[in-house]
Amino acid sequence: MCLCGSGAEASSCCSRFLDGDAVPASPEQLMRSRYTAFARGDARYLMSTWHPGTAPAELSLDDATQWLGLEILDAPPVADDAKRGVVEFVARYRESSGTRGRIHERSRFVRQSGRWWYLDGVHS
Ligand SMILES: [Zn+2]
Repeated sequence: MCLCGSGAEASSCCSRFLDGDAVPASPEQLMRSRYTAFARGDARYLMSTWHPGTAPAELSLDDATQWLGLEILDAPPVADDAKRGVVEFVARYRESSGTRGRIHERSRFVRQSGRWWYLDGVHS
């Protein structure tokens, strides 16, 4: 099953995006695939889906962080011609020290050049 918690097989969910065989058709698909990339330690995919205007110069992931699950709280459907979208989620993790944490974020996405990009997010 896919790490993003969709209930689908990884091959028909996030893997095709991380493998470069398809591009996410919605902000939610992009959000899920980025969570899966965090869980797999795939910094390359995270950078390649981050809007160039807001992406960090480089991204180093802490391999010791274990991602425990993703819960999508809100992912309003987007129209075919929509240029912006939002996804609110909670992601849970455990650090190597054993400390558990959660990220509650409302992420913003933009559609440019025929694909969706992660722009930024507001934590709550
Ligand atoms: Zn998935």
